Amino acid sequence: MNIIDELYQDTEEYRDHLATVDKKGKRVWMYPKKPSGWFYKVRTWLSFVLLGLLFGMPFIRVNGEPLMLFNVLERKFIIFSIVFTPQDLHLFALAMVTLMLFVVLFTVVFGRLFCGWICPQTIFMEMVFRKIEYWIDGDAGQQRKLAAAPLTGQKIFKRVSKYAIFYAISLLIANTFLMYIIGSDEVLKIATDPIGLHIGGFMALLAFSGVFFFVFTYMREQVCIAVCPYGRLQGVLLVPDSIVVHYDYVRGEPRGKIQKLPTTNNQAPTAQLGDCVDCKLCVHVCPTGIDIRNGTQLECVNCTACMDACDGVMEKVNRPKGLIRYDSETGIKEGRRKIFTTRVWAYTGVLVALIAVQAFLFATRSEVETVLLRTPGQLFQKVEGGYLSNLYNYEVINKTGQDIPSIEFKLVGAPGGRIKLVGDASTIVPKQGMVKGVMFIEMPENKLESRKTKLKIEVWSNGKLVDEAKTNFLGPVK
Ligand code: SF4
Ligand code: SF4
Repeated sequence: MNIIDELYQDTEEYRDHLATVDKKGKRVWMYPKKPSGWFYKVRTWLSFVLLGLLFGMPFIRVNGEPLMLFNVLERKFIIFSIVFTPQDLHLFALAMVTLMLFVVLFTVVFGRLFCGWICPQTIFMEMVFRKIEYWIDGDAGQQRKLAAAPLTGQKIFKRVSKYAIFYAISLLIANTFLMYIIGSDEVLKIATDPIGLHIGGFMALLAFSGVFFFVFTYMREQVCIAVCPYGRLQGVLLVPDSIVVHYDYVRGEPRGKIQKLPTTNNQAPTAQLGDCVDCKLCVHVCPTGIDIRNGTQLECVNCTACMDACDGVMEKVNRPKGLIRYDSETGIKEGRRKIFTTRVWAYTGVLVALIAVQAFLFATRSEVETVLLRTPGQLFQKVEGGYLSNLYNYEVINKTGQDIPSIEFKLVGAPGGRIKLVGDASTIVPKQGMVKGVMFIEMPENKLESRKTKLKIEVWSNGKLVDEAKTNFLGPVK
């Protein structure tokens, strides 16, 4: 066993408990020190962009359609202004599989990069709510003092203003969240019309805002540690080559305070020690309360706060930055970074194939879909003139943002065949809607060559072919 293995032969006792739970099982409230540094600055700017997108997107319309809508209630989905209906379920299912695979692949290579930089929970918690908390309550030490202080007028004022702002933001998030479900117009109506007109929507807004308030005021880091399924998956997704926020124990150990000993032979006074000066700043800034020097842990959301803190310390003690950095276990231990392992290539191959299939299905997806099914339980009937007739139910689904007027059905490649619509059939298919109806298809009996004849029906609108459907025509056994 070499010195590094010996040094790193941790008891791993820290894995037996959570930093946010004490021995009695009580929650330990986190007071992370305010982070600062290059990564925090970049993350702040990125979060502004992402928050702008999140709050702005419900108001963006292309051809009258919102950019994104996930209306699970009406089973209507719009992604980049393309309308998806329940008939596109296969596309959704495939997109979900592709997304899952992407998440796995991305995590194998880059660990929890998503959590630190993109995840809405981290962005809202660290870049919105936590910043407000620092602004009102002060940094970690002041927050601790305030929490322990008796209930004075100042404490009440701080608490009330903080929670009022927290609730206002939660309400804003709830409104935005609802806009992604029912659309911005509907939410604006709920906000401006009398409450009685939209009691359901109003209750939904109250419930969502309550949940967000609870999450960002009380749950906080527990969402990432105990609730988020992605976080729980880390244990099976991460490999020694995954790039994560990592403490360079080769460089840092043995850790110890800087000693002011006299120098000899131009040797640094603390040459027998590693670069970690054991200041614990990396622990104090961590929003999940862990010591990253213990190694990769489930609680680490890769927020980079410890990297910034440690870089600041390294600068002060005149040592190279990056003692805590993005690296892999292999990179730290052996000094090499191997991103493209066999597993990564295999995942990438499957992922590319899935994306190609998805792209093909998207490209060939029709905006009008016609479903034509023979009415169950009905056999053919003989009608005048030597014709046989079959009864069909049809549906024409319009996924576009415009009405489709004057639709008509044409039988193709079936000489002598004809279509008769039943009743007062509507010939206008409303935008993002459908028409249903019943039709007879009649075929001359002497033209049928077998019991089952394949038929093709074209759907036309104002002289333009919009879709086609296939079905079978049943006749007597030949
Ligand atoms: S901030 Fe850097 S130097 Fe300080 S304890 Fe953490 S790893 Fe060591
Ligand atoms: S260990 Fe570092 S990167 Fe991980 S959560 Fe704590 S501060 Fe963020």
